[in-house]
Amino acid sequence: MDRLYKTPKDSGKITAALQSLKGVGPKRVRLLNRLGIYTIEDLLYHFPRKYEDRSLLKEICQLREGETGTISGTVTGIRDIRPRRGMTITKAAVSDGTATAFAVWFNQPFIKKQVNKGARIIITGKADRKYGNIQLTVSDYEVIDDQEPLHGARIVPVYPATEGLPPRVLRSVIKSALDEFLNGIREFLPPEVLDKYDLMPLDKALYSIHFPNNPDDTRKARRRLVFEELFVLQTGICMLKVREGKTAGICHKKNGPLTDGLMKRLPFKLTGAQKRVLEEIYRDMENKTTMNRLIQGDVGSGKTVLAAAALAKTVESGYQGVMMAPTEILAAQHAEGLTELLSPLGVQVALLTGSMARREKEDILHSIEEGRIDVVVGTHALIQEEVRFQKLGLAVTDEQHRFGVKQRARLRDKGENPDILVMTATPIPRTLALTVYGDLDISVIDELPPGRHEIKTYWVSDAEKQRVYNFIRQQVSQGRQVYYVCPLVEESEKIDITAALELAELLQSQIFPDLHIGLVHGRLKQDAKDLVMKAFKNGTIDLLVATTVIEVGINVPNATLMVIENADRFGLAQLHQLRGRVGRGQYRSYCILVANPATDEGRARMKIMSQTNDGFLIAEEDLKLRGPGEFFGTRQSGLPDLKIADIIRDIKILRVARKEALEILDRDPNLQYPENIRLREKVIARFRGADNYFSTS
Ligand code: ADP
Ligand code: MG
Repeated sequence: MDRLYKTPKDSGKITAALQSLKGVGPKRVRLLNRLGIYTIEDLLYHFPRKYEDRSLLKEICQLREGETGTISGTVTGIRDIRPRRGMTITKAAVSDGTATAFAVWFNQPFIKKQVNKGARIIITGKADRKYGNIQLTVSDYEVIDDQEPLHGARIVPVYPATEGLPPRVLRSVIKSALDEFLNGIREFLPPEVLDKYDLMPLDKALYSIHFPNNPDDTRKARRRLVFEELFVLQTGICMLKVREGKTAGICHKKNGPLTDGLMKRLPFKLTGAQKRVLEEIYRDMENKTTMNRLIQGDVGSGKTVLAAAALAKTVESGYQGVMMAPTEILAAQHAEGLTELLSPLGVQVALLTGSMARREKEDILHSIEEGRIDVVVGTHALIQEEVRFQKLGLAVTDEQHRFGVKQRARLRDKGENPDILVMTATPIPRTLALTVYGDLDISVIDELPPGRHEIKTYWVSDAEKQRVYNFIRQQVSQGRQVYYVCPLVEESEKIDITAALELAELLQSQIFPDLHIGLVHGRLKQDAKDLVMKAFKNGTIDLLVATTVIEVGINVPNATLMVIENADRFGLAQLHQLRGRVGRGQYRSYCILVANPATDEGRARMKIMSQTNDGFLIAEEDLKLRGPGEFFGTRQSGLPDLKIADIIRDIKILRVARKEALEILDRDPNLQYPENIRLREKVIARFRGADNYFSTS
């Protein structure tokens, strides 16, 4: 039971099992579990998706044709009609003194058992005129007894419908949970915070979010619960930050011959933004607390060289450095680039990936452990048990958005409080970054190296392939190279690879028999990938057919054209990353999106891509199209899903929640004061459900 919220004096009431509710048997428990609801508390935190205001009752005689409304009346007769086999229509005459309406239910024969002649009933439905009568096609109903009505004559909560759990069932189950357990719910936000922001008390908020008396109730309840959610989230993130920030780390030395030597070897001058960020990195590394820094910079802004400098600095101070990348191809590229820059200065660089031959791998593992290797570059393989460092001083994660918080933590655990540097090209607005990467300090490279041209992007239809081929030929004849990314069609990698293979064959045999065409995909062994990528890098291959394995990081400045087939199947962020593979050198570069999108969203994405190169804008559009839930998928960020807050709409609340969280932690960093114990439990419970965020606590 992960998400339990235990408070000793509540005697576990709110955490009681679902079965204890009336109307909830094993079958409903299973259905609720499918929604992630295991305890009464989970149930109370299962919020409505929207509300329907059924508080204004209509007189039957006022109902207009085609209108949906709620009425209340007395059942004056009810019967089933069976127009044909397998079909039941239940029809009830309902009268409210102004007129009589015929309410109809389709194929719900049980209705006749629940609604008796003479009963008082509330009905919501759509009105029609049939044979001179008013007919109401029932969407919801409720027989009135001595209880407060739930499904009509009020503002009614609507929950996301799930099979077997229609909104009315959830309404009843949640109502009985509230009736039975509301007394056991205890406030855990500090009273002064409640006061300062005029927040509704927890019990009242939980009641009102489900069964508000008026729209103002809903608004206030929501505000309180949004605050609570963001406050708990920020407290968790800041606890981590406070803890790591205070951790005594490694004091790296001031720059010496190695770091200086590296700068001299660079074939270009750093941009102003790179210089500024590098200063921040050096400062973090030299001081005595651990560095936890995120470098945000659009594709092509030149993050790699900063990693190289930081790695040189750790080696210079007598430590080892490690750099993790999300794909084998990118890891290999980094290993090669770092070797080129650092080995002339006497630094030993090695590559470690999963698909390496066993013998070779063991050799490298040995050398890492004995300290003969200074800098290791690799994939996820780096966080495996068997990888042991002699003295790890710096851990770099490239393309952080591809990794979870957990993986970053595991890399960190390879040393004793090493400095941490993470790099990402996913630009996110700063305040949002506080939510996702709130435990990190953030540096932004907001400038591209000089001489870069806009990547001209065109969207063409399948029918225009011939023009695309002509353009490829033109680029190749000028000595440039081309990426050809093939469609992601199936869920299965195997089928995609077959498609890639067929495409490469088609292009080679039918279209470009005279060009050198290469193929790279995720199932190739490391050696084979290396071979292809080297051939592309040194220009032997003119056109590289690839799956999305080339999506991140790859750097071949002579490549100037990126063709993406079925481009509408990719998300904006992915397209931007893919496009970032070209335009990395002095030549004008192009991206051609081949797509016949079937949806408006697909068309919108193609348009945005052809209009802008600005990663920041694209990210914002992406956020709008997909919504924050998907944009910051739990898988990527390692953070818990948000249940009620919307980090864009609720950004102001996010800011104050963060401020208050920091203030509490300032006084009580580990939340050990008695009045903070419950907050602490909330935080731990919330994070444990999502990822092992507090892995070392
Ligand atoms: P990213 O930020 O996408 O990881 P890279 O670090 O791969 O970008 O750099 C992209 C290209 O720009 C590389 O070819 C790199 O050598 C080059 N580069 C980086 N910094 C500069 C600079 N200051 N001036 C010129 N070229 C640079
Ligand atoms: Mg990169």
